[in-house]
Amino acid sequence: MPGKVHVIDHPLVQHKLTLMRSKETSTSTFRNLLREISMLLAYEVCRDMATTPTEIETPIAKMRAPMLDGKKIVIISILRAGTGILDGMLEILPSARVGHIGLYRDPKTLAAVEYYYKVPDNMGDRDAIVVDPMLATGNSAVAAIDRIKESGPKSIKFVCLLTCPEGIRAFHGAHPDVPIYTAAIDDRLNEKSYIVPGLGDAGDRLFGTK
Ligand code: URA
Repeated sequence: MPGKVHVIDHPLVQHKLTLMRSKETSTSTFRNLLREISMLLAYEVCRDMATTPTEIETPIAKMRAPMLDGKKIVIISILRAGTGILDGMLEILPSARVGHIGLYRDPKTLAAVEYYYKVPDNMGDRDAIVVDPMLATGNSAVAAIDRIKESGPKSIKFVCLLTCPEGIRAFHGAHPDVPIYTAAIDDRLNEKSYIVPGLGDAGDRLFGTK
């Protein structure tokens, strides 16, 4: 059974994504847009999260009001471009814990090779949100989820900005139980494994490295 893909087609998300795609957009604007769009994606990703009725007192009366347990959420950034989504999500989920996974693409085999991994303790109590702007070949996302599953989080969601049919097929071929949240599904991958029409290299655009 294929996994779930949630396309966040809200006009605000689509507008900001269009600005990010444009090659005229500067590094600082791209960075700001990614932070803003990530807050909007976080809103959708949290839609089905459990809340706990909590005793509080308003200026008028006592009440039991719903609260999220932010500390139980762990946002795991796939380095390096995942950092852009992480920053925006932390503005909406300031108590969330943070993990990092570093993977590079072997230039010959295109396989993902791990060079860094650090996640909080007690992953069994936590809901993991794994972030990377571009789900392209799916190699690094699949390898990241393989590794994160070893630590046994309560649940896992994968959040990207853009993906394509090839990326979704590869990802859900390996992890049909992990839902994908994305702002758009583009046409295809090109021969260099870039998403078409895409937005170029997300890391380079975010950090101004090219
Ligand atoms: N990574 C990127 O940054 N861009 C793509 O189009 C594909 C992978």
